[in-house]
Amino acid sequence: MTDTTYGAKLQRDGRTYAIQTRIPAGVVTPEDLETIARVAKEFHIPLIKITSGQRFLLVGVQEQDIADVRRELGSIGSASITPGVRYVQSCPGIAYCKNGTQDSLSLAREISDEYAGKEFPAKIKIGVSGCPRCCGESRVRDIGIMGTAKGWTLFFGGHSGFNTRQGEQVATSLTSDEILDLVRNLLAYYKTHAQPKERTSRFLERAGTGWLAEGAGK
Ligand code: SF4
Repeated sequence: MTDTTYGAKLQRDGRTYAIQTRIPAGVVTPEDLETIARVAKEFHIPLIKITSGQRFLLVGVQEQDIADVRRELGSIGSASITPGVRYVQSCPGIAYCKNGTQDSLSLAREISDEYAGKEFPAKIKIGVSGCPRCCGESRVRDIGIMGTAKGWTLFFGGHSGFNTRQGEQVATSLTSDEILDLVRNLLAYYKTHAQPKERTSRFLERAGTGWLAEGAGK
């Protein structure tokens, strides 16, 4: 990996790269879409893929174009490339969905802003859902937040890939401020005690779940 390709993933053809966008809570503006379309045309990018993390993946970027593509994408080109919060996905929540009980979009944006660029031992995926139907996949994310009629419920240590694991329920009926504090406490503990490249799910298997109550301030 060189400075010019840092953060771009080499593709199956062994010569072109994929670049992730940064799309907090999966919300884009018409201007964002126009930017992505313009950049894709200008640099002859053959595939634009929407990822499970509600980001755009620009696939087939030539190595010599990586820096220019990032620059032309502007703020949406500044995807996290260090181990840390990769994305905060969200459902529409109470602002738009008839089933919503909590404002998932606002909370997801707040979390996304707070953790942008911060380093952790491994990548962290966060899912926020506005009700127990869990369209934000909260139960299988490192940090999962789910709205109920009584407030927010938090799960920690979920994983959807190999060795799928449902996150441990840590607390329920929290306010937005309480959930933000709890996320800070849990991630601070994880950052201090996890080994390099150790995802939250594997960390829980090694360290146990007893500390979660401590992290929850109980
Ligand atoms: S999780 Fe609930 S609030 Fe969010 S989109 Fe699904 S049904 Fe609607």
